[in-house]
Order: sequence, then structure tokens, then C-alpha cells
Amino acid sequence: MTHTLDGIGVTPLSGVGNVVWYDGEVELGDPPAPDTVDADAERDRFEQALGRAREEIEAEREHTAEAVGEEEAAVFDAHLQFLDDPQITGAVEDALDSGLPADHAVDEGFADAIEQLEAAGGRMAERADDLRDIRDRLLRILADADRVDLSALPEGTVLLAERLTPSDTAQLNPDRVAGFATVVGGRTAHAAIFARSIGIPAVVGVGEALLDVAADTEVVVDGEAGTVVVDPDEETRERAAESRDVSVRHDRVETADGRDIEVAANVGTPAELSAAADNGADGIGLFRTEFLFLDRRSPPDEAEQLETYVEALEAFPDGRVVVRTLDIGGDKPIPYIDAEEPENPFLGVRGIRRSLGLDEELFRTQLRALLRANAEAEGDLSVMFPMVATVEEAEAALDVVEEVASELDEAGEAFERPELGVMIETPSAVFVGDELAARLDFFSIGTNDLTQYVMAASRQNEAVDHLHDPRHPAVLRAIHRAVEAAHDNDAWIGMCGEMAGDPALTELLVGLGLDELSMSAVTIPDVKANVAETRTDAASALADDALAASTKSEVVATITHNT
Ligand code: PEP
Ligand code: MG
Repeated sequence: MTHTLDGIGVTPLSGVGNVVWYDGEVELGDPPAPDTVDADAERDRFEQALGRAREEIEAEREHTAEAVGEEEAAVFDAHLQFLDDPQITGAVEDALDSGLPADHAVDEGFADAIEQLEAAGGRMAERADDLRDIRDRLLRILADADRVDLSALPEGTVLLAERLTPSDTAQLNPDRVAGFATVVGGRTAHAAIFARSIGIPAVVGVGEALLDVAADTEVVVDGEAGTVVVDPDEETRERAAESRDVSVRHDRVETADGRDIEVAANVGTPAELSAAADNGADGIGLFRTEFLFLDRRSPPDEAEQLETYVEALEAFPDGRVVVRTLDIGGDKPIPYIDAEEPENPFLGVRGIRRSLGLDEELFRTQLRALLRANAEAEGDLSVMFPMVATVEEAEAALDVVEEVASELDEAGEAFERPELGVMIETPSAVFVGDELAARLDFFSIGTNDLTQYVMAASRQNEAVDHLHDPRHPAVLRAIHRAVEAAHDNDAWIGMCGEMAGDPALTELLVGLGLDELSMSAVTIPDVKANVAETRTDAASALADDALAASTKSEVVATITHNT
């Protein structure tokens, strides 16, 4: 029977298709009958999983030793020893000999050793946790090999999942996947942002009710309304299958009274550059380079990055391309770079904090590639640093740019300095905005993070979605203050958080004084049309009213009343 589940819409697109469940968790079902198991193949799988686990643990050991210290890294030595412990591997081999598949054999083989350690009590019992950790790692590695291949889903699939990571989403092919919906998640989590960039209809934060939708059921994912319609009727299905009728403007737009507003695209991979151009982007306002580092075993080297940045610049020879340096951490962990997940990753070492510490070598390599690309390609490169909270960080980043420029000069490499800016994502950056703007060419406001830090509301938790909303007066006032700081110091200011791509807010953002708006390609035509209809005097009056409001509902009433 048709019924509708409510969630948070993240892409203004709809799609219809049949459900495939993606299970990120590892759960062991009943073992198959022993005579159906190919024992040799299962032994090979176990050997391969052991090898993979060894590689992973060695990489984590090395990283922890560098990042934290030798003492803390020692736990990984113990893990490596357990992997070679003949008592444990022997027990797994016995289980394999009895006809169990590799995952069940691992589970059974570890069970005795875990039980014995627990029975010994005291410090020995603590080692049982290490064993569980190793067992789970092996089970995950074995399951990864079997898991749904996200890059090869059948055409017309609607993917349902408890949650998706950014790298899961990055594997989805928008020509085959009709949409996805998840139990948890927020509008500005990176999985959602990526879905919007590549144009996949998506609804997140649907809640537990989604778990009742069976595989193969037909559903409509309506990313505009934020609904998942289960067993849709003919009319709903047809509406979802219709393509959106948009008229794309490839010229630059001005407001009705002649103020130039740059409308640019956010991208994460070179593959998105053509969607940006097709939707009429004037340039790139945010290239999230960390996506170049996902889904691989080691970072792209200088030559590979150079090629990518040249490609981006050449896609917009007459426009500006703003590349953001690596923003690792938060909900974008990169397994071969990251160590353990810290307690509260969004408040930890992410963005520029990593680039000036742990990842300084990666930062320098990236800057070398960027400065060289700017010399090699036509087009106008700007480089910005994420998560800046202090003037010292901005100065240190600028110093590294200068050092890299000198090195390139000495080596006789062609290079050109780009415009340099910072993201305004932390309340502290707003408060020292004057001092930052005096040192830089531009700002770009990242409202996804700025909102979560101003409101103390996670960007990926649907339970606080009402607070993670940039229409709260506190966020608007922070934006206003950043714009004033930029303009008072002759810097330009853009916005690349998801707020910039909401067509209902275009007039307000023009009124707040933004010079550039950057967004997922799919919303560019609507925002350009709205800029062209806006008059700056009316927009400023609207911004003044919104800034004077005491509550989000007053802000919303002001905006709605105006349209
Ligand atoms: C932001 O925080 O608004 C932003 C654009 O950066 P990201 O979404 O990649 O954190
Ligand atoms: Mg951010």
C-alpha cells in the first residue's frame, strides 16, 4: 500500500526505482551447510584478509608513532603479534577444516581465546578487547569483499542505508542510481552535499521507519519535498520520472539595478566540472580537494594534483577557480592518513590545523601543485584555507605559501602566486575578521560549519536539524559581521556553504552584501534567475529586517512575507 515517509530533502530532484539495501554493518547470519563451502577458496580468503589486516595495522602503527608517540603505537605491535599467534590462527584453521566459511571460522576461532582471556580476569581480560578489535577488523575486511558494489548498482536502483559516508556516495553513478535515502544524516553532511553535486535525488534522516522498506520495493525519492513514497501510485511515479525543466544562463548575472554577483559551483572531483559548466557556473567557488584523496590507498602526488588543478582552471578560462586546501577530519576521515577516530572529530584537528601540523608535507605538495598549475593554465586561481580560527594560523599558512614559492623559484619551476583567502567557518574567524581580511584577498563563508559552531548543533544529526539552520539570527549576524570586515579591508567575500544554493535566500544574501555565491551545480539556474530579479535597495532593506529579528521564525516570516 502506498505510504509516505518524511525525512530531510537534500537534492531538488526526484527519482523512482527499486530498493537495494546497503548494509555497512557486519552481521553474521547462519553458516551455510559444510558441503556447499569451497574450503580451499575460504582458506585463501582468510589468508588474504590476514595480509590486508597486517597492512592496515602497520600503517596505523606508523601513523600513530608519528602523530602521538611510540608508546601509544605499541598497542599495534600487540595486534600484529596476535595475528601471528599460532593458537588463534590454528583455531581458525580448524574451523575452516570443519567446513565453515572464512567469516564464521574467524568468529569461532577467536571465541575460545577471547573467553580464556576474560576468564583470567585483571589485565589479561583487557587484552580480550584487543582480540575483539582484531576479529572485527578481519570480519570487516572479509565483508568488504562481499558487500554491495556501490559503483555497479543496476540501473534504476534506489539505495537505502542506515548511513552513507562521503566515500560511499562518491562511488554512486548518477546515471544508474535513481536516488538514495538514509535512516540518519543531516542536509549539510558531506554525503548529502556530494549527492547534490552529482545530481542524485536524496533524502536523509528518515528515521527507523525506513528499515521496514523491503528490498526490491518500488519507491519514489523526492529530494525537494524530503519524502520517500513507498509503493507509489501511477501519478506520483510519473511525476518523479519527469525531468526538471530549467533554463540555464551561461552569461554572468547582475541584479536588476546592475550589481554584479558571481554565481559559481562547488565541486569535489574533476568529473563534476562539466556539470558545473552545463548548469551555467561562472567559475568554481569551492573545490573540495579532500575528495581527490578518498577511495584510494595513498595520496595523489604533485604531478597528479597538478594535472587536476590545470583541468579545473582550463574548464573556466574566463572565470575564477577557488581551490580549498585539504580539509581532512570531521566527517571526512581518510583511512590511510587518519589515525584513530578522536572523541569529537569536528572540534579536533581538522582543516588547516592538520595542514600546519601532522600533514604539513601533504600541504606543501598541494601548494606546489597549485602554484605550478596557476602558471601553466589560463584562468584565475584563488586558494583558500579551511577551518581557520586564528590570525596566527592564517599567517602561518601564508608563510608556507611563500616558502613553497621560494623553493619553486630556486628550482627554476614556473609558478604564479594565486589570490589567497580563508573560509569563515568558526565563530573566532568572524570575531577576528578585520585582522584576517587585512592580510588576505578574500573570504568564503562556509555556513555548514559556521552554523554548527555558532549554534552548537551538529550538521549530521537530524535531531538538531531545527538548530542547524542558517536562518537563525545569530548566524545571520555572524555573516553580516564577516561581510563588513571583508569590505572594510578591500577584500571580496563569497559564500560556499549550502545556504548559498537555497534560491529562497538569494535576495537576503545579496542584501547582506555577498559578492559571490557558490553552490551545487543543480541549483545554479534558479539562483541566477533570482539574482537577475533582485533590486539591491529592496534586498538591503530585507537584510536589515532579518538582522533586526530576534528569532528564526521572525526571520522566516520576513523572508516569506517578502516573496
Ligand atoms: C562549509 O562548512 O560550509 C563548507 C563549505 O565546507 P564543508 O562543507 O566542506 O565543510
Ligand atoms: Mg566546512
